[in-house]
Amino acid sequence: MAASLSIVRTVSELREAVARARAAGAGVGFAPTMGALHEGHLSLIRAAKARCGFAVASLFVNPRQFAPHEDFDRYPRTEAADAALLASAGCDLLFAPEREAMYPPGFSTSVHVAEVSAPLEGEMRPHFFGGVATVVTKLLLQAQADAAFFGEKDYQQLLVVKRLARDLDIPTEIIGCPTLREQDGLALSSRNAYLSADERRIAGRLNLVLHEAIKAAHAGEPIARAEADAAHRLLGAGFSSVDYVAIRHAETLEPITDLAAPARILAAAWLGKTRLIDNMAV
Ligand code: AMP
Repeated sequence: MAASLSIVRTVSELREAVARARAAGAGVGFAPTMGALHEGHLSLIRAAKARCGFAVASLFVNPRQFAPHEDFDRYPRTEAADAALLASAGCDLLFAPEREAMYPPGFSTSVHVAEVSAPLEGEMRPHFFGGVATVVTKLLLQAQADAAFFGEKDYQQLLVVKRLARDLDIPTEIIGCPTLREQDGLALSSRNAYLSADERRIAGRLNLVLHEAIKAAHAGEPIARAEADAAHRLLGAGFSSVDYVAIRHAETLEPITDLAAPARILAAAWLGKTRLIDNMAV
């Protein structure tokens, strides 16, 4: 149990607390979140604490990364429970800004990352990475951490964040952390709370189907066939629709026709009104 978790809501308070930790000799590790925390989030905090000494989390449900028809309003908001979980994971500081602190009137700057933002999630959710890149750039500049920890669960997002930090010379090391899963393979996600019991049972098939596709690709099945078969299996398992199943170059996310270079399989599929994503190394 951490001695105490401080909660701050303004950038100046955040910077003062970080400066105090530095003056006391600590490194600073940072994990941005949208709350409704689970063990996946806490694994980032534990990594930040272990590597840096002083662990900072942020909690901000970023309106700019949701399209008007998406789930911004119903996204779970559980700050008190989140704070208790963060404290138990050894987090030292929680930055939980109000919307106005992040986007004051007249806010008019956005960060656009080309190339790696374009395919997959970028095609299905055209507003998404603009919102993510803008808020993550702000958060990284606000926290001024030595290292920031992001989950491989959101693999394309991790690549986008690495790119923007490099391109904009943000002096924070971006560290990817492994995806935490339920026993049946379902990646932990705040959105899993939306699933009915039936949907939850079907959801576990997503990761299984990705495993099967990887096996098929390694056994010599053409990439496009392995992708199409996997999408077909998801529909057969009870998914309502499939946005994509794609085996791509692991760094650029460009389409590939063989497994000569490191590859990643990524998928997004719907169960009723809930959209699930998953990915794995091939
Ligand atoms: P979110 O609150 O969904 O924006 O996620 C905040 C951070 O937690 C992101 O870096 C995610 O990739 C990471 N994360 C979410 N789910 C998991 C998981 N199951 N395992 C590891 N990291 C995760």
